[in-house]
Amino acid sequence: MTSDQQTPVDLASGDLVFVGPPGVGKGTQAKALVQENGWVHLSTGDIFRDHARRRTELGRLAKAFLDRGEYVPDEITVDMVRERLREIPRNTRVVFDGFPRTVAQADALDRLLAEFGRHVGAIILLEAPREELLARLSGRARAEGRTDDTPEVIAKRLAVYEEQTRPVVSHYERRGLVRRVNGVGAVPDVTERLRDAADRGPG
Ligand code: ADP
Repeated sequence: MTSDQQTPVDLASGDLVFVGPPGVGKGTQAKALVQENGWVHLSTGDIFRDHARRRTELGRLAKAFLDRGEYVPDEITVDMVRERLREIPRNTRVVFDGFPRTVAQADALDRLLAEFGRHVGAIILLEAPREELLARLSGRARAEGRTDDTPEVIAKRLAVYEEQTRPVVSHYERRGLVRRVNGVGAVPDVTERLRDAADRGPG
């Protein structure tokens, strides 16, 4: 990939991509790691929810998909990520959370990062059994009242993950970039595992 050649030395380790099913703790963990390292957290879900709260045009559009547990169309999502990337200094590591979620988005991410002189360093796949995810998501529904945490929408999101996002993992596995991390346990213990995975060399 030309993106590797364009990458400046201080970003030799590349950006991180967090992948995992809904409820696995990507957001919580990404925030913790970003905070302790001075990296930037780029969560497409958070950006969509922020737009929805502010009732922007993008927010109104995205909310319909979010509330059904469906993915927002790739083109809209990719344009939004590009806008956010413009604001991030090249020597600051980005942790992508919830993006890419489709193979088309993964291809777009490579092109986008190349545009900005960046590249993917590693994919961190955070995993937990389905029963654990269901228990956490219904707990979060009570605690946070997210409109996409109802039982029907949760089931839909898990199905959409299996169908559309699993192939993203295989896509990166072929490139030897995936590091698997067990997402079950106390939050700080999982953070510790992620710290190790983020520091590890390629593979
Ligand atoms: P979770 O991983 O818990 O489902 P997120 O906050 O990452 O939560 O995403 C919530 C919703 O936002 C998704 O169900 C989807 O509708 C939308 N969304 C987030 N990221 C993307 C993306 N990369 N592509 C399309 N839709 C997305």
